[in-house]
Amino acid sequence: MLQRTYIKNLKKHIGEEVLIKGSIYALRAQSSVSFIVLRDITGTAQVVIVKNSTPDIFNLVKSLSLETAISVQGIVKAEDKAPNHVEIEASSISVISPSLPELPIPVYEKGSETTSNLRHQYRFLDIRKPKNALIMKLSGAFDRYYREFLTQQGFIEIHTPKLMPTPSESSSDLFEVNYFDRKAYLAQSPQLYKQMAIAGGLEKVFEVGPIFRAEKSFTTRHATECTCYDVEMAYIKDHEDIIKLEENMIAFILTKMKEEYGDEVKQLYGIDIKVPETPFPRITMKEAKQLLGSFDDGSDLSSEEEKALGDHFAAKGHDFVFLTDFPITARPFYHKYYEDKPCTKSADLIYKGVEITTLAQREERPDVLVKQLIAKGLGTTDIQWYLDFFKYGVPPHGGWGLGGSRFLKQMLNLESIRDTMFLFRGVNHLNP
Ligand code: ATP
Ligand code: MG
Repeated sequence: MLQRTYIKNLKKHIGEEVLIKGSIYALRAQSSVSFIVLRDITGTAQVVIVKNSTPDIFNLVKSLSLETAISVQGIVKAEDKAPNHVEIEASSISVISPSLPELPIPVYEKGSETTSNLRHQYRFLDIRKPKNALIMKLSGAFDRYYREFLTQQGFIEIHTPKLMPTPSESSSDLFEVNYFDRKAYLAQSPQLYKQMAIAGGLEKVFEVGPIFRAEKSFTTRHATECTCYDVEMAYIKDHEDIIKLEENMIAFILTKMKEEYGDEVKQLYGIDIKVPETPFPRITMKEAKQLLGSFDDGSDLSSEEEKALGDHFAAKGHDFVFLTDFPITARPFYHKYYEDKPCTKSADLIYKGVEITTLAQREERPDVLVKQLIAKGLGTTDIQWYLDFFKYGVPPHGGWGLGGSRFLKQMLNLESIRDTMFLFRGVNHLNP
């Protein structure tokens, strides 16, 4: 009995008999010869069925529908015109699992004939498309290289609870859940708990996990549930240490992703993965507002302004830019403030005009923290458990939250983060 060969390895087996398994991606029947494009998770291959040499298989193929899972046995031949320059002349074909003849959405798409909503309704068929399967591979690779980089730097991976007694970021955009006889909240970020890990002496921690935000936004960069990539690090000088760590990490991840998937990304998306040079450019919020001719009212940049800033740096050859020194009014109470200006020691990383990260040094002095909390009009009662961390010697620290789906969207120049997620969750999207 032959072992299964994956399609990407066929080139190594020219002249040999192989067994391949996969789904029928395309089918073309002619009078004396038929062609199947077979797809497995590693690629696609052309299978040829010649009427004269294998009349039984030739007849079977006529009855098969697209997306049926089959196995094919045959000889691998070099063929310049076929994808991957090989084809298989089938000597036997058997059906593993048939597909209904009418597909609700095409898997083999010529253009983009299916609407996004319909595609996502039938996501299990949608991700059969090689372009979408590649996004899933890239998303997994991002996780892997994120872990690899941080683990090499001595970071400890932690998992913090997603059910919380108090809101983690703000009291708006919050999902409330029934928790026996009281209320709980879904974590908007692991912020408070990762700082608890610093108070717990772990020094360098990271987490990859879900965050939940009940924001009624219908943008191309917001989901109600998404995966956030967090870091928190102690004994820093200021937020510049976090900036350096992040730019080195991004360069590392993109180098690795390019090595592993550069060819496939080029082939399916027509994009060269660009590994950025470090250091990335930095610009203060004040400078950015001047550059964009915007009124400086202490607010965050709008998405249009972020885009314009991205375009400005793209023209100079930079995909990434750190936007630094955010005004206090645009940042939460726990960010560290400068002594001499109403700004925070924080930054956003903008990737091709979209925020993908917010990072900051945190305020670790308990009296200052309480002052900042009150100045923002917030109470101390609900969050006393957090404030208590800082009473027992907590070193200066900081970290980031990075949105993985935004990273992939920008890397592949996609229209929305929706296609970067296995299943998207939005205001109107809770199914399947
Ligand atoms: P925005 O202003 O764009 O709504 P934010 O500043 O509220 O984002 P942060 O609290 O800074 O978001 O979260 C850290 C990172 O997590 C963001 O930079 C982004 O990449 C990602 N992120 C936050 N909220 C969402 C969301 N609803 N959907 C997808 N990614 C998100
Ligand atoms: Mg932010």
